[in-house]
Amino acid sequence: MSDALDPTRCPLCWQSNQCGQSDPTTADQPCWCFGVEIDTQSLERIPSSERGKACLCARCARAEPPETT
Ligand SMILES: [Zn+2]
Repeated sequence: MSDALDPTRCPLCWQSNQCGQSDPTTADQPCWCFGVEIDTQSLERIPSSERGKACLCARCARAEPPETT
């Protein structure tokens, strides 16, 4: 599979999601996402093919606008 999903990237904005669970070195520690309320509208915007495979980033989880650089 050449288009393997990168579980460390947010499926909405493709920024690093900083998920503790996707990194073996921190997988035994609670992820930031355990302590925040994930916005349900953001969850619904995740393509169904990527749902449950990659975490949202903290920004999208809170439905904040993406950082513009
Ligand atoms: Zn994001």
